[in-house]
Amino acid sequence: SKNEGAAPRGGAVRLDRVSKSFESFVAVSDVSLDIRAGEFLTLLGSSGCGKTTTLRMISGFEAVDSGTITVDGARMNERPPYRRPVNTVFQSYALFPHMTVEANVAYGLTLKKLPKAEIVQRTSEMLERVGLLDKAAARPDNLSGGQRQRVALARALVNEPRVLLLDEPLGALDAKLRREMQLELKRIQTGLGITFVYVTHDQEEALVMSDRIAVMNAGKIRQIGTPADIFERPCERFVAEFVGTENFLPIADTVPGGVVLSDGTRLRLPEGATPADAGLVAIRPEKIRLATNGAETNVVEARLSEIAYVGTANRLILRLPGGDTLTAEVSPEALAAWPGPLDEGTQMRLELAPDALLVFPETPAR
Ligand code: ATP
Repeated sequence: SKNEGAAPRGGAVRLDRVSKSFESFVAVSDVSLDIRAGEFLTLLGSSGCGKTTTLRMISGFEAVDSGTITVDGARMNERPPYRRPVNTVFQSYALFPHMTVEANVAYGLTLKKLPKAEIVQRTSEMLERVGLLDKAAARPDNLSGGQRQRVALARALVNEPRVLLLDEPLGALDAKLRREMQLELKRIQTGLGITFVYVTHDQEEALVMSDRIAVMNAGKIRQIGTPADIFERPCERFVAEFVGTENFLPIADTVPGGVVLSDGTRLRLPEGATPADAGLVAIRPEKIRLATNGAETNVVEARLSEIAYVGTANRLILRLPGGDTLTAEVSPEALAAWPGPLDEGTQMRLELAPDALLVFPETPAR
């Protein structure tokens, strides 16, 4: 690529024990985070968990109460936003409606009073990169949502920030465009080598784009890791639930290599898992299989109580003998292969494969 051998363009961002309160409400609590140069890092969490506040402290729009923020080792705490090597793209785009696309993108360079020729060249390079060169003379009103989002992106990137902060930038787009833009953002980020810090509450979006994801809850980072780490090896119930794990069953006892549920069902755990007595074992709904074959290991008996069609699969709600509920997501093909009626109360055999099981040391929340 064009950047090979050159110094990385992205900045390394470090948050060291950063906190922020609004009155007595702690929005960000003692957060430490190392964001690598050129990395696509996503802050993932539900509304109010402190993602935006974290981003605003990096940009300088919000002052920290305590802790340190550095970019490439340089302390940012006292620097106003415009003196940080950082730019922000907002969900609202904040484009100037009376200016052309080109003038919107050139705005920051014009403010810096760069030579006209350089402004024109850098602006058109950036418009080309986001695929909008042919819209240079258009006004934002005449663009689609996705095009406006790309103008906002180009306008931030043309300033050559070492770090780009993006706060739910695709939130206003419909699902299809959103998916396209996710791939496009990732492609642009990889091409430029700029560090992206991305905020979203959408787990799928985070999984698709990120090099690493930091999952936040109540002002704290609960887990940081690659998408595979977060999805397949969540460290606690909260993170697991946030990325779609369900079926948290209380563990009543442990046996070598496995656990025992309250109804006496024994489940073998994956190799290397440490069973914890008085913990939880969990499985994603789509990992549960109907045991129509001769499967013997980790097969549980359950009674069907409901089937809901959810498009690509069927959601089955089932009751275990001990009273716990299981939700399984089963493909139409697998359901069609079931050798009998599927009425309420039907007794079914389900396979909870050891490799699909997660164990958490926590006691049940409810
Ligand atoms: P969202 O996706 O809804 O923006 P978030 O995870 O980005 O959520 P923040 O915007 O960081 O969350 O807000 C964290 C908490 O701090 C929220 O409860 C919010 O109400 C509160 N908060 C944020 N800014 C202020 C402020 N300026 N004054 C008072 N409270 C604030």
